[in-house]
Amino acid sequence: MTEVPDATPTAPGVCAGCGSPRVSLAVCEKCGEIFDLPQDPFALFGLARSWSVDTAALEERYSLLSRAFREKSAPRQDVLDRVTDAIAALDAARRKLSDPVERAQYLLVSYGGAEREKPLRKREFQSEVMEFDQAASKARQESDPARLKSVVLEAEEKLASAIIAAGQSFTRLERSLVDEVNSAADAVAEARFWRRKVDELRAVLGR
Ligand SMILES: [Zn+2]
Repeated sequence: MTEVPDATPTAPGVCAGCGSPRVSLAVCEKCGEIFDLPQDPFALFGLARSWSVDTAALEERYSLLSRAFREKSAPRQDVLDRVTDAIAALDAARRKLSDPVERAQYLLVSYGGAEREKPLRKREFQSEVMEFDQAASKARQESDPARLKSVVLEAEEKLASAIIAAGQSFTRLERSLVDEVNSAADAVAEARFWRRKVDELRAVLGR
Protein backbone atom coordinates (compact mmCIF):
# COMPACT_ATOMS: atom_id res chain seq x y z
CA MET A 1 0.00 0.00 0.00
CA THR A 2 1.27 3.46 -0.87
CA GLU A 3 1.86 5.57 2.18
CA VAL A 4 0.16 8.91 2.27
CA PRO A 5 1.86 11.59 4.39
CA ASP A 6 0.21 12.97 7.48
CA ALA A 7 -1.45 15.75 5.51
CA THR A 8 -4.61 13.66 5.81
CA PRO A 9 -4.74 12.83 9.50
CA THR A 10 -6.57 9.57 10.04
CA ALA A 11 -4.65 8.56 13.18
CA PRO A 12 -7.42 8.42 15.74
CA GLY A 13 -5.34 8.42 18.94
CA VAL A 14 -6.87 7.35 22.23
CA CYS A 15 -10.47 7.16 23.40
CA ALA A 16 -11.60 10.21 25.39
CA GLY A 17 -13.86 7.93 27.43
CA CYS A 18 -11.61 5.09 28.61
CA GLY A 19 -8.15 6.06 27.36
CA SER A 20 -7.69 2.97 25.18
CA PRO A 21 -5.96 3.30 21.82
CA ARG A 22 -8.52 3.03 19.01
CA VAL A 23 -8.28 2.33 15.30
CA SER A 24 -11.22 4.44 14.14
CA LEU A 25 -12.31 8.02 14.77
CA ALA A 26 -15.89 6.75 14.96
CA VAL A 27 -15.87 4.30 17.85
CA CYS A 28 -13.79 2.90 20.69
CA GLU A 29 -13.53 -0.87 20.25
CA LYS A 30 -12.91 -1.25 23.97
CA CYS A 31 -15.74 0.67 25.64
CA GLY A 32 -18.13 1.26 22.70
CA GLU A 33 -18.12 5.06 22.97
CA ILE A 34 -19.38 6.51 19.67
CA PHE A 35 -17.75 9.74 18.46
CA ASP A 36 -18.64 12.08 15.58
CA LEU A 37 -18.84 9.90 12.48
CA PRO A 38 -16.22 11.13 10.00
CA GLN A 39 -17.41 11.92 6.47
CA ASP A 40 -14.14 10.53 5.15
CA PRO A 41 -14.63 6.77 4.62
CA PHE A 42 -10.89 6.17 5.05
CA ALA A 43 -10.96 7.95 8.41
CA LEU A 44 -13.99 5.93 9.47
CA PHE A 45 -11.96 2.76 8.98
CA GLY A 46 -8.73 4.30 10.26
CA LEU A 47 -7.03 3.58 6.93
CA ALA A 48 -4.62 5.82 5.03
CA ARG A 49 -6.32 7.71 2.21
CA SER A 50 -5.09 5.94 -0.87
CA TRP A 51 -6.22 4.44 -4.15
CA SER A 52 -4.71 1.09 -3.18
CA VAL A 53 -7.10 -0.13 -0.52
CA ASP A 54 -6.05 -3.41 1.02
CA THR A 55 -9.26 -5.45 0.73
CA ALA A 56 -8.28 -7.88 3.49
CA ALA A 57 -7.43 -5.01 5.86
CA LEU A 58 -10.70 -3.28 4.99
CA GLU A 59 -12.75 -6.40 5.75
CA GLU A 60 -10.85 -6.95 8.99
CA ARG A 61 -11.56 -3.38 10.11
CA TYR A 62 -15.17 -3.72 9.02
CA SER A 63 -15.78 -6.74 11.23
CA LEU A 64 -13.84 -5.20 14.13
CA LEU A 65 -15.87 -1.98 14.02
CA SER A 66 -19.26 -3.55 13.40
CA ARG A 67 -18.58 -5.89 16.33
CA ALA A 68 -17.71 -2.84 18.48
CA PHE A 69 -21.00 -1.14 17.55
CA ARG A 70 -23.08 -4.27 18.11
CA GLU A 71 -21.40 -5.73 21.16
CA LYS A 72 -19.96 -2.70 22.98
CA SER A 73 -22.10 0.29 21.97
CA ALA A 74 -25.54 -1.34 21.70
CA PRO A 75 -25.64 -2.44 25.39
CA ARG A 76 -24.86 1.13 26.52
CA GLN A 77 -27.95 3.24 27.21
CA ASP A 78 -26.12 6.51 26.52
CA VAL A 79 -25.03 5.64 22.96
CA LEU A 80 -27.69 3.09 22.00
CA ASP A 81 -29.72 5.54 19.89
CA ARG A 82 -26.67 6.28 17.71
CA VAL A 83 -25.81 2.67 16.89
CA THR A 84 -28.15 2.34 13.89
CA ASP A 85 -26.75 5.47 12.22
CA ALA A 86 -23.20 4.39 12.98
CA ILE A 87 -23.69 0.96 11.40
CA ALA A 88 -25.34 2.55 8.35
CA ALA A 89 -22.38 4.93 8.00
CA LEU A 90 -19.96 2.01 8.31
CA ASP A 91 -21.79 0.08 5.57
CA ALA A 92 -21.86 3.13 3.30
CA ALA A 93 -18.15 3.75 3.84
CA ARG A 94 -17.34 0.14 3.04
CA ARG A 95 -19.33 0.33 -0.20
CA LYS A 96 -17.53 3.54 -1.11
CA LEU A 97 -14.09 2.05 -0.57
CA SER A 98 -14.84 -1.32 -2.17
CA ASP A 99 -16.31 0.08 -5.38
CA PRO A 100 -13.46 1.40 -7.56
CA VAL A 101 -15.65 4.00 -9.29
CA GLU A 102 -16.96 5.38 -5.99
CA ARG A 103 -13.50 5.32 -4.47
CA ALA A 104 -12.06 7.16 -7.47
CA GLN A 105 -14.81 9.76 -7.27
CA TYR A 106 -14.15 10.31 -3.57
CA LEU A 107 -10.39 10.64 -4.12
CA LEU A 108 -10.91 13.01 -7.05
CA VAL A 109 -12.97 15.38 -4.93
CA SER A 110 -10.64 15.07 -1.95
CA TYR A 111 -7.71 16.11 -4.17
CA GLY A 112 -9.71 19.20 -5.16
CA GLY A 113 -10.78 17.88 -8.56
CA ALA A 114 -14.23 18.72 -9.96
CA GLU A 115 -16.52 15.93 -11.09
CA ARG A 116 -17.52 15.99 -14.75
CA GLU A 117 -20.42 14.56 -16.67
CA LYS A 118 -18.21 13.79 -19.67
CA PRO A 119 -14.46 13.71 -20.23
CA LEU A 120 -13.33 17.12 -21.45
CA ARG A 121 -9.96 16.05 -22.66
CA LYS A 122 -11.03 13.19 -24.92
CA ARG A 123 -12.26 14.63 -28.21
CA GLU A 124 -12.78 11.15 -29.59
CA PHE A 125 -15.10 10.22 -26.72
CA GLN A 126 -18.19 11.58 -28.45
CA SER A 127 -17.68 9.56 -31.63
CA GLU A 128 -16.77 6.50 -29.58
CA VAL A 129 -20.08 6.78 -27.75
CA MET A 130 -22.05 7.30 -30.96
CA GLU A 131 -20.48 4.24 -32.52
CA PHE A 132 -21.18 2.19 -29.43
CA ASP A 133 -24.80 3.36 -29.16
CA GLN A 134 -25.43 2.44 -32.78
CA ALA A 135 -24.08 -1.07 -32.25
CA ALA A 136 -26.06 -1.42 -29.03
CA SER A 137 -29.39 -0.31 -30.50
CA LYS A 138 -28.89 -2.55 -33.52
CA ALA A 139 -28.23 -5.52 -31.25
CA ARG A 140 -31.35 -4.67 -29.23
CA GLN A 141 -33.56 -4.26 -32.28
CA GLU A 142 -32.43 -7.59 -33.67
CA SER A 143 -32.55 -9.07 -30.16
CA ASP A 144 -29.52 -11.07 -31.13
CA PRO A 145 -28.09 -12.57 -27.91
CA ALA A 146 -24.60 -13.10 -29.31
CA ARG A 147 -24.45 -9.51 -30.51
CA LEU A 148 -25.86 -8.15 -27.27
CA LYS A 149 -23.32 -10.14 -25.35
CA SER A 150 -20.45 -8.68 -27.32
CA VAL A 151 -21.83 -5.17 -26.80
CA VAL A 152 -21.96 -5.75 -23.04
CA LEU A 153 -18.42 -7.10 -23.15
CA GLU A 154 -17.25 -4.02 -25.02
CA ALA A 155 -18.84 -1.73 -22.41
CA GLU A 156 -17.25 -3.75 -19.61
CA GLU A 157 -13.85 -3.40 -21.25
CA LYS A 158 -14.27 0.36 -21.56
CA LEU A 159 -15.28 0.54 -17.90
CA ALA A 160 -12.27 -1.53 -16.84
CA SER A 161 -9.79 0.56 -18.80
CA ALA A 162 -11.24 3.81 -17.44
CA ILE A 163 -10.85 2.44 -13.89
CA ILE A 164 -7.26 1.42 -14.64
CA ALA A 165 -6.52 4.89 -16.00
CA ALA A 166 -7.96 6.53 -12.88
CA GLY A 167 -5.93 4.18 -10.67
CA GLN A 168 -2.73 4.99 -12.54
CA SER A 169 -3.32 8.71 -12.09
CA PHE A 170 -4.01 8.38 -8.36
CA THR A 171 -0.98 6.13 -7.87
CA ARG A 172 1.29 8.64 -9.64
CA LEU A 173 -0.25 11.47 -7.65
CA GLU A 174 0.29 9.67 -4.33
CA ARG A 175 3.88 8.78 -5.22
CA SER A 176 4.80 12.28 -6.29
CA LEU A 177 3.07 13.69 -3.20
CA VAL A 178 5.23 11.49 -0.95
CA ASP A 179 8.37 12.42 -2.92
CA GLU A 180 7.66 16.14 -2.90
CA VAL A 181 6.79 16.18 0.80
CA ASN A 182 10.12 14.43 1.45
CA SER A 183 11.99 16.98 -0.66
CA ALA A 184 10.21 19.81 1.11
CA ALA A 185 11.11 18.30 4.51
CA ASP A 186 14.78 18.17 3.51
CA ALA A 187 14.69 21.72 2.20
CA VAL A 188 12.98 23.01 5.34
CA ALA A 189 15.55 21.25 7.56
CA GLU A 190 18.35 22.81 5.52
CA ALA A 191 16.77 26.25 5.65
CA ARG A 192 16.40 26.06 9.41
CA PHE A 193 20.03 24.97 9.78
CA TRP A 194 21.32 27.89 7.69
CA ARG A 195 19.08 30.39 9.44
CA ARG A 196 20.61 29.36 12.78
CA LYS A 197 24.08 29.81 11.24
CA VAL A 198 23.18 33.23 9.87
CA ASP A 199 21.74 34.34 13.21
CA GLU A 200 24.77 33.02 15.08
CA LEU A 201 27.29 34.78 12.84
CA ARG A 202 25.31 38.01 12.66
CA ALA A 203 25.32 38.09 16.44
CA VAL A 204 29.11 37.79 16.38
CA LEU A 205 29.33 40.59 13.80
CA GLY A 206 27.05 42.87 15.75
CA ARG A 207 28.97 42.46 18.98
ZN1 LIG B 1 -13.11 3.81 25.12
